[in-house]
Amino acid sequence: KLYNQVQDLKGNIRVYCRVRPFLNGQANRASTVDNIEEGNISITTQLKYGKEGRKTFSFNKVFSPAATQAEVFSDTQALIRSVLDGYNVCIFAYGQTGSGKTYTMTGPKELTEEGLGVNFRALSDLFILADQRKDTISYDICVQMLEIYNEQVRDLLVTDGQNKRYPFSQNGINVPDANLVPVSTTSDVLYLMDLGQKNRSVGATAMNDRSSRSHSCVTVHVQGRDLTSGAILRGSMHLVDLAGSERVDKSEVTGDRLKEAQHINKSLSALGDVIASLAQKNSHVPYRNSKLTQLLQDSLGGQAKTLMFVHISPELDALGETISTLKFAERVA
Ligand code: ADP
Ligand code: MG
Repeated sequence: KLYNQVQDLKGNIRVYCRVRPFLNGQANRASTVDNIEEGNISITTQLKYGKEGRKTFSFNKVFSPAATQAEVFSDTQALIRSVLDGYNVCIFAYGQTGSGKTYTMTGPKELTEEGLGVNFRALSDLFILADQRKDTISYDICVQMLEIYNEQVRDLLVTDGQNKRYPFSQNGINVPDANLVPVSTTSDVLYLMDLGQKNRSVGATAMNDRSSRSHSCVTVHVQGRDLTSGAILRGSMHLVDLAGSERVDKSEVTGDRLKEAQHINKSLSALGDVIASLAQKNSHVPYRNSKLTQLLQDSLGGQAKTLMFVHISPELDALGETISTLKFAERVA
């Protein structure tokens, strides 16, 4: 079994691509997505530039615009089970602003049952699986929700409207003071997700939606106690809705906006570097280059399992970002 795990180290990193559908009634517009076949997606550049051009990228899986939330989640269930077995799991949503990251992780603004995203479905599965094992193992499940904005960490599970900041301890990141909330039902989870989403926009600089320029991370801590031996096992799961990956034009932004863009750029490339060096089995993994990778250090590499959902928008206007998103993803796949 150990041999298989070592053999399968690269298999601990999976990359799924999801293509957003056109929004409200734009269904007949031309798309940059030419073809989707199993794990391959072909992008056409000729519609925009008028010359022949087609590029194909390969991933573990590609979800077409027609994929439902349930279909997108279904392949993730094995990871959820492993959290209860004591593994650490990270699930990321990557892509430019508007490509569907929050839709995948949380769901649409008007939530319906079918619309529920990965966060809710993952916790709901944890409850069901924990319950199935209750005669042999007793599980405690707790949730934290943090935001990283301009390389500062804040607690999103506060009820006093204060978006409290946490200092980083010297050796990596330690946020023991951030609220850690026990959950046992899906309605607990819905309440916390809603609270976290609301706090995410608190303090937004006028007219800007900060949620697209911060990373939000739901961390689920699972502790199981074997009812006969008393042995304790711990697993965790980070569910991360990353800041928008779009490059900003340095000639057009200044001041706070430029600073935000630089922080995002730095942390997303640090994440790419970490995952790429894990995929290549490099001996040095550069965790320390951003708060994001420090925060997730224990859950990236080793026996931990990583899943990245990369999102693309189908519009011709988005072509440049689509290509750079797919290149980023191909590097870590
Ligand atoms: P991001 O978080 O990447 O900025 P959002 O998740 O907010 O993007 O998505 C942008 C818009 O597109 C939202 O109105 C969202 O509801 C819609 N949307 C995204 N993905 C889908 C999808 N798979 N099906 C239907 N609507 C979607
Ligand atoms: Mg979003």
